[in-house]
Amino acid sequence: MRLRKPFLNRFALSLLALVLVVGLGAGCASSGVNQGDVNLISIDEEWQLGQQLESDLAQKLDINHDRALNAYVSALGQRLVRQTAMADRPWTFHVVNDPQVNAFDVPGGHVYVNTGLIATAGDVAELAGVMAHEVSHGVARHGTEQLTRVYGLNLLASALLGDDPSTYQKILAQVAGGGAVAHYARDAEREADQLGVRTMYDAGYDPQGMVEIFEALLDQRQRRPSAVEQFFSSHPLTEERIQDVRAAVRQLPAKRGLISHDSDYQAVRRRVTR
Ligand code: ZN
Repeated sequence: MRLRKPFLNRFALSLLALVLVVGLGAGCASSGVNQGDVNLISIDEEWQLGQQLESDLAQKLDINHDRALNAYVSALGQRLVRQTAMADRPWTFHVVNDPQVNAFDVPGGHVYVNTGLIATAGDVAELAGVMAHEVSHGVARHGTEQLTRVYGLNLLASALLGDDPSTYQKILAQVAGGGAVAHYARDAEREADQLGVRTMYDAGYDPQGMVEIFEALLDQRQRRPSAVEQFFSSHPLTEERIQDVRAAVRQLPAKRGLISHDSDYQAVRRRVTR
């Protein structure tokens, strides 16, 4: 069992307490921005789970260690995170050597960006668009909400019995194989888009970049569907969703100096396209 025992014991107690609360009809809200959705995993437990997933994913994914590329992606990610309700938590941004045009959020402040996405994102605002969307899934705690829905009772049962690693291994395999902890529902996608647009704007990136990268992804689905398969399987993307993003961007007050192009970005992007 990779998860430490105290984690499980605390986990079991909190699950039990929360299930009792739910059973009494009081419900329980996540403390994220999306209050009202049931989440049986506390924020501290989520960050602990994230540490465990990060160390196991380091064995399963081809992590990119190019210093300049990682520094750039990390600085971009931290700049976004500073504008969110989860700015006080530690976040880590990882680059994965994978031609799939994909990025994904892992519970507990970990965002993975594939080199295939960097190669596709023509300017920094486009990369920031997908990264802001993924950060928003994390800030809204969509991953652990989904885990609560899918595994809630199983986790409770195995946690109370003591030492059953099977649920954790299932979650790990899902993340490592499909690139996401969850196949997000349409509402979660909309929430991540809306939050992401706002986060980009507040961080000083042109939110129109999200519209552009989503259009590029839809376009790639026509031309080389296998390259964007993972992204579409975990994030349903439709023309209607892009219209909603466009509308959200239009509602923002005009702001000077929003970044869309950046020569430093072009330099690090060449490191994955050459
Ligand atoms: Zn999504």
